[in-house]
Amino acid sequence: MARGPVIIVTGTPGTGKTTHAQMLAEESPVPLKHINVGDLVKEKNLYEEYDEEWQSYTVDEDKLLDELEPIVSEGGIILDWHTCEIFPERWADLVVVLRCDHTKLWDRLEKRGYPLKKIQENNEAEIMEVVLDEARSSYPPEIVVELQSEGTEDLEANVARIVQWINAWKEQHAEGAEQ
Ligand code: ADP
Repeated sequence: MARGPVIIVTGTPGTGKTTHAQMLAEESPVPLKHINVGDLVKEKNLYEEYDEEWQSYTVDEDKLLDELEPIVSEGGIILDWHTCEIFPERWADLVVVLRCDHTKLWDRLEKRGYPLKKIQENNEAEIMEVVLDEARSSYPPEIVVELQSEGTEDLEANVARIVQWINAWKEQHAEGAEQ
């Protein structure tokens, strides 16, 4: 039996994935390991090249999936990344898509020092709901949850809601529970 659920936290860059994942790892009733996939790609050289113009890495998806498979199959994982469609459907127990008002998102990305072009691209992606569409077309609708992430109250309420979901998961997966 898996030790814990696999939760994908996704959304346009700047919507609050890492902030949510860190808080969730602290507050979860079962141990969850937070994997910041972007950091893992850099640390383990799981990319084909670095694109100077866009200041981003072109990920080697096969290498990334090979690296993640044994880790994810243990369960108890939060996958924090700005895209989710490459992860096999069977991996995910819950897919959280974070959303943010685009003007607020623009400010967050500007503070991060992103080049204008990259801010524009991400801003447009948020308006067009690109990540939400991706999640909805890659996973069953009942496991995809869209959550607003604009202020601290949202952050706290979202984490509390996911903790509740984990408690239910725990009960369903307790020894002797009917599947
Ligand atoms: P991501 O991992 O999606 O790129 P981060 O978690 O790094 O986003 O958040 C980007 C910035 O926005 C950080 O400065 C973070 O503190 C802030 N932020 C994100 N979500 C919220 C929220 N719900 N309330 C307040 N600040 C937030």
